[in-house]
Amino acid sequence: MFDDKLDEPPKLVFTFDDGDSSIYDVAFQLMKDYGFRGTNFINSETMGQPNKMTWEQIREMELLYSWETGCHTLKHENLAQMSIEEAIANIKKDKHNLEEQGLCPVSFALPKGQAPNNLYPTLQDLFQNVRGSSDFAMYNPINRFALGYLPYQSNWDADLIKARILRGIANNEDLIIIGFHRFNSVEDIYHDSCTTQTFREILDFVQSRDLEVIPLRCAF
Ligand SMILES: [Zn+2]
Repeated sequence: MFDDKLDEPPKLVFTFDDGDSSIYDVAFQLMKDYGFRGTNFINSETMGQPNKMTWEQIREMELLYSWETGCHTLKHENLAQMSIEEAIANIKKDKHNLEEQGLCPVSFALPKGQAPNNLYPTLQDLFQNVRGSSDFAMYNPINRFALGYLPYQSNWDADLIKARILRGIANNEDLIIIGFHRFNSVEDIYHDSCTTQTFREILDFVQSRDLEVIPLRCAF
């Protein structure tokens, strides 16, 4: 018997965290050219602030271009440093803020990858997917409440991301999540800014391998 799963390439998801305006200005426009769709993880109480995307932009991405909008707490709070009551209230309010905008959040990304264990019943109640902050190989059946990802760092060239994807293909991984935070940042204080050129090179590579980039909610 052939295992036809062997022929199936990994699902490829790009996440965009924290709602920087360059995600709309650069990544969204480029992804559109390739017919790819991403997942935003936004902090709902920071939307519309300087250098952040607006609700109008977020709505356009999800409602007109089928991007996904996921939750990432109100203001990027570290959930491990709050009381459980505060953490639950924060997450519920954050999800409510997105729903009030007509969005359908089903995914959550842990700020700094941290959450107390006793928060998981609430997360599992409110969401279908929870993404952490470290990269590891994911095989079916994937634990959707402990998803890994590779966050892009500003000194990386496209080859590093290409190598990660090729390794996933070679190892028959079922899901690869690559994360971006901002594009063409001059200050780059978080050391996670990606240039237009590098991002385009990554997208060219993905297209050349006959892969597509899909929102996290579509990966299962
Ligand atoms: Zn974040």
